[in-house]
Amino acid sequence: MMTLFRRAVLPLGLAAALFVLPSAVPAGQRSYAATHGAAPFVTEHLIPGSDLDLAQVDLTLPAAKVVALTIDDGPDANDPQILDILRAHGAKATFFYIGAKIPEHHGIARLVAASGNEVGSHTQTHPMTTDLKPTEREWNLAQAEKALASVGVQAAWFRPPYGDVDGALAALARHHGMATVLWTADSQDWKDTGPDVIRHRIVERLAPGAVVLMHSTKAATVAALPAILEEGERRGLRFVTMSEWEAAMRQSVTPELALLHPAPRRH
Ligand SMILES: [Zn+2]
Repeated sequence: MMTLFRRAVLPLGLAAALFVLPSAVPAGQRSYAATHGAAPFVTEHLIPGSDLDLAQVDLTLPAAKVVALTIDDGPDANDPQILDILRAHGAKATFFYIGAKIPEHHGIARLVAASGNEVGSHTQTHPMTTDLKPTEREWNLAQAEKALASVGVQAAWFRPPYGDVDGALAALARHHGMATVLWTADSQDWKDTGPDVIRHRIVERLAPGAVVLMHSTKAATVAALPAILEEGERRGLRFVTMSEWEAAMRQSVTPELALLHPAPRRH
């Protein structure tokens, strides 16, 4: 069996980690966010492998009125300007960095890491991870971990490139100390559309608990950011880091919803 073969070639500790961790997304199957554009607010699709059951989160509570902006593909020359915009609005974001780009933008990466925003891992080389052998996956995450450490970051979050993730990759990320997160709102800014289109796509899905996907590599995204933050403020939403988002979601778990939506059995 393919999965057994994969486990057999991995180091013992890693194989043990894969064995005990739940595989919410079956191995070899691309994520819901990758195939549908965005994930629903459901644990297995948004934060695969997490013990936080999003079905038990009461999104009407004041504590849940948070949005996580996630900004992928940096470090990038646009990052200092993004920091200024975030600061002007009292907002925070999470930057998912590509390890291979860190040496070239070392100063910027350090600046972002020290800014009070969060920095996560977006792998070393931005591959389609389900195409990789287990040893290549391990290399990619480990190299990114080293690159991030060179700017003082120990990532708590992992964003798979293209949302391409399976249960084994989410388990491997967890072995590296990272939770995996997809997104509920896709700016589709990589299509090189203008700021108005980007703003519209995000604002449509700007709601409590939203996780927004953007890219720091696009000037139009930077141009759209102030209006997105202003609209969020109008709706009483706070823009927080991924770790703050998770804390807010855990704080908003309610016993009533837990009874209505009991946690699914782990096999
Ligand atoms: Zn990316």
